[in-house]
Amino acid sequence: MEALILHEIRQFVLNSPANRFAGTEMPFFEAPIIGFARADDPLFSAYKRIIGDFHLTPGEIMQQCWGTDLSFGGSVICWVLPISETTRLSNRRQTRIPSLEWALTREHGETFNNLLRHHMTSYLISRDCQAISPLLSEIWQPVDDPVAGLASTWSERHAAYAAGLGTFSLNGGLITSRGMAHRCGSIITDLDLPPTPRPYDTPREYCLFFREGHCGKCIARCPVGAFSTQGHDKGKCLDYAYKTISKAFTEQYGIKAPGCGLCQTGTPCEAGIPEQNHD
Ligand code: SF4
Ligand code: SF4
Repeated sequence: MEALILHEIRQFVLNSPANRFAGTEMPFFEAPIIGFARADDPLFSAYKRIIGDFHLTPGEIMQQCWGTDLSFGGSVICWVLPISETTRLSNRRQTRIPSLEWALTREHGETFNNLLRHHMTSYLISRDCQAISPLLSEIWQPVDDPVAGLASTWSERHAAYAAGLGTFSLNGGLITSRGMAHRCGSIITDLDLPPTPRPYDTPREYCLFFREGHCGKCIARCPVGAFSTQGHDKGKCLDYAYKTISKAFTEQYGIKAPGCGLCQTGTPCEAGIPEQNHD
């Protein structure tokens, strides 16, 4: 079943017409990277301490949605959809607002990502498994926590970290083997899948700043100073991305959620794990 799931996700990403800019053959996303985590991986319980007690474990989500006890099995299937090279290059040139390609990827590419979440949930259910996409369920809720700040009841980036796909960056992204310019997805299932080894020991190992004490190129990319080596002001980032930038793109192109992503491009971690002593 493991091979079938990997094949199904890859084929859907590579062949779906929904993963294309309108009227072209240019994809929003290139071939995905995929990982599995055990549903009872202790990391998911630890996230209640690390993120906040509002963050749900896979077991809690399955219990609420299916009434299933995942104490002795189950898995989390995670994917990372790398944003196409053409789009990354277009965003690299921007200094205030994202490129049109980036904005279209954030809006319509995420619609495709939702289709993939739906597709894989249905695929598993049609094979007599229980499955849920937390992001598409009512269980997923945004949270404004006094300690954690803006967060949610299920973080796909943290699930991807547990599934061996990447480590966290100075700007709160996830640096993967295909870099930081991507979108994540996840499905929880009662199916037992072999967990993907985590090729890292610490949560920020791939970021040059945390690994070697230098870099910070993402800081200079942010037009509103939403983060520094001292922390990340998520409210400032979201205000800029979802108010200032959205207004401009909605008026001109009808795009409501263009994102920003300037700090995900034009950096040494844009498309891969930065090498040692990268300058
Ligand atoms: S640009 Fe440098 S400091 Fe910023 S996330 Fe990437 S590797 Fe880390
Ligand atoms: S996504 Fe947020 S943190 Fe990154 S450059 Fe844009 S406003 Fe700054």
